[in-house]
Amino acid sequence: METGKYGLPLDVKYCKECTRSNQRPAVTQEFLQNQNQKKKFVIFDEKGLCGGCTYNHIKNNKINWNDREKELLDLCDKFRKKNGEFDVLVPGSGGKDSILVAHQLKHKYKMNPLLCSWSPTMITEIGKKNLKAWIDIGFKIEFNKVNKELHRILTKLSFLNLCHPFQPFIIGQKNFAPKIAQKKNIQLVMFGEHDAEFGSDLERWDQPSMNINRFTHDKIDYNDLFLGGVQLNDILKKYNFTIEDIDDYLPIETEVFNSNKIEFHYYSYYKKWNFHDNYYYAINNSKFTPQKERIQGSYDKYSSMDDKIDYLHFYTYYIKFGMGRATAASEQEIRAGVINRDEGISLVKRFDSEFPSKYYNDFLNYMQINDKEFKEVIDRSRPDHLWEKVGSDWKLKKPIWESD
Ligand SMILES: [Zn+2]
Repeated sequence: METGKYGLPLDVKYCKECTRSNQRPAVTQEFLQNQNQKKKFVIFDEKGLCGGCTYNHIKNNKINWNDREKELLDLCDKFRKKNGEFDVLVPGSGGKDSILVAHQLKHKYKMNPLLCSWSPTMITEIGKKNLKAWIDIGFKIEFNKVNKELHRILTKLSFLNLCHPFQPFIIGQKNFAPKIAQKKNIQLVMFGEHDAEFGSDLERWDQPSMNINRFTHDKIDYNDLFLGGVQLNDILKKYNFTIEDIDDYLPIETEVFNSNKIEFHYYSYYKKWNFHDNYYYAINNSKFTPQKERIQGSYDKYSSMDDKIDYLHFYTYYIKFGMGRATAASEQEIRAGVINRDEGISLVKRFDSEFPSKYYNDFLNYMQINDKEFKEVIDRSRPDHLWEKVGSDWKLKKPIWESD
């Protein structure tokens, strides 16, 4: 197959059922990413469906959800401790999904969950409120204690080198739960959405547990690992940080990890996941609140709103892959049966390209870059096969509303 920038397929195709295109990378081991790496991409099936929609059919037609709940009861029985110790770790941020998982495990399945949260890079007011709403259900929580200056530098490098400012957060968050589980001697970690919900790792749709290579590495060699597209040794030397500082971002050695026998499960394997229903569950069972106004770049009021960097993340995604925040929201709402594909396409046309101006100055101040540097990164990250310049404006060459 002929490929363009980032190894993207040159032939842009849209899913027949939702708003997603084939220009989307598969989940990757972030700590191996550098500028030259070609990504792996999700492929559509023979009916022209993206992985998320393929899984949606499996979810609605193939899975017996009563049997799956029985599996969950067995899992809880296997791990439940009766001595008052925590028996399950629930990672999250206080979004609707993590509220549902923790609340049900505690109240419906009588587990004793400990929460853990990797703090947002720049938390928003609504993010603070909802994090509190999560804890206030009646939980204890572990927060990460990251070197903030290192996190700032990594975010900046990730933006400048990879146009991927969310990378340090993604890496830190992935490693955090396994590390807390080890430290606290908790044998079960419960994540929310199975990757198959997004169409990644589709071959593992009938497996309840996570592929641990997300946060493990066979042999940790600092020459092999990259953060923000820069080799680890170079970061340590240039910015004068120590291994202790950077440890939060390092994968765990597979052998060391396996000796702990911790299991990582997805809640959405056991319970039919509908992110729209999760929203109502969170509203009804906690003090979770949506944002008052529409989220910039989208039309919804309740997804990924706890970190200012989220807004930039979705915008850079739009630049690199031609799909922004309204695409992400609409593809899920279409599968959940809340809107139809035509409505999704209109929403994408209207909101996907919206610039995240609300927090723009915060991004620049945080990364200590200026407007010109920001724009240079954005423009050099646009793949030629997706973008063209018309006058002074950039336009998508093949947007969904012009495709058949
Ligand atoms: Zn689809």
